[in-house]
Amino acid sequence: MAVECEVVSADLNEALAAELDRLSGAGLLRTLRPVSGRQGARVRVDGREMLDFSSNDYLALAGDPRVAAAATAALASGPLGAGAARLISGDHPLHEALERALADYKRTEAALLFGSGYLANIGTIPALVGPRDVIYADRLNHASLIDGCRLSRAEVRTFAHNDMAALADMLAADRGRFRRRLIVVDSVFSMDGDLAPLCELVPLARAYDAWTYVDDAHATGVLGQGGRGSAEHWAVEGQIDVIMGTLGKALGTAGAFIAGSRTLIDYLTNRARAFVYTTASPPAIAAAALEALRIATTEPERRTRLRAAARRLRSGLGIDGPNDGHIIPIPFGDADRTMRVAAALNDQGFLVGAIRPPTVPDGTSRLRLTVSAAHEPADIDALLTAVKSL
Ligand code: PMP
Repeated sequence: MAVECEVVSADLNEALAAELDRLSGAGLLRTLRPVSGRQGARVRVDGREMLDFSSNDYLALAGDPRVAAAATAALASGPLGAGAARLISGDHPLHEALERALADYKRTEAALLFGSGYLANIGTIPALVGPRDVIYADRLNHASLIDGCRLSRAEVRTFAHNDMAALADMLAADRGRFRRRLIVVDSVFSMDGDLAPLCELVPLARAYDAWTYVDDAHATGVLGQGGRGSAEHWAVEGQIDVIMGTLGKALGTAGAFIAGSRTLIDYLTNRARAFVYTTASPPAIAAAALEALRIATTEPERRTRLRAAARRLRSGLGIDGPNDGHIIPIPFGDADRTMRVAAALNDQGFLVGAIRPPTVPDGTSRLRLTVSAAHEPADIDALLTAVKSL
């Protein structure tokens, strides 16, 4: 029997417009702003050059001519579109070459490409766990992990951010109650920039027979001496069951991958719906990502520059500690106030991320500043002067 509920308007546009008005009234309306002509940390917005402190192009590879040239070369010998899903007729030697290179980079047996990090998360988690299983998720996990957990229909237990004692208690209390247990975390939390303590989490998972799923979106290319990500940083390479990495952030291109055992990858090739039922990404993107990966591996000075930029900005903002994390939040709490500060910085020529609910919890709106290998010390100092003037 149908449940009675209040119908504000039967007309689709009226109903949606009312919702948009509500968002706008709460300072939560989002709109698009085309950004063009990315050159290092400089972009053009509405025809005006701005310094970008909002992108995830950490190694400044998105605009690297060598990456573009690799894509162009691939296009010279083949079409742009893959034409079908990989399992039908969309597979290409460049996809396989990229997977081999990514597996080597992450020091795993194999890797599997996905169209994006969002798709990798919502495709992989439900392939691994289901209704008889349990997921332990950090409260600040990325939306794509949250959606993957929901789609899986496994029971989801959320633990306080980075609270390994709380996680241990949950694991102990649940012993023997579920078929499979999966711990899911961001390695670098996308809106806070802090790290999940994998050196504690991995042994905990081992002790309680739980599997580990680590979203390395903001760590791939960045963390660790070789940029191989969080496992390298925490010295737990080979000990994480499932690693998700993205190609659209530090690697400056598009797409994502899961890295892990050969068995895991063979299984996902059969069972991850977001892999099986979608058109393969253009092989030229794989060519570009291969070149970006080569540069990220052979030019470690990019990571040195990135860390120096992060340290300069953090110390200029008076953030304590020897931290050189590349994502730097400035908390304001109130969404309106955050938007006003972001707009004032925009007026002064700085593009900064203004992050509001539902991306972050209510009352925790913030500016999210990111640095890149392309930021010069003078760029950082200019931003610091502008922030202080506000
Ligand atoms: N995971 C995290 C932690 C992210 O920050 C993002 C992107 N914002 C994603 C996954 C999704 O990656 P993609 O942009 O490739 O879909």
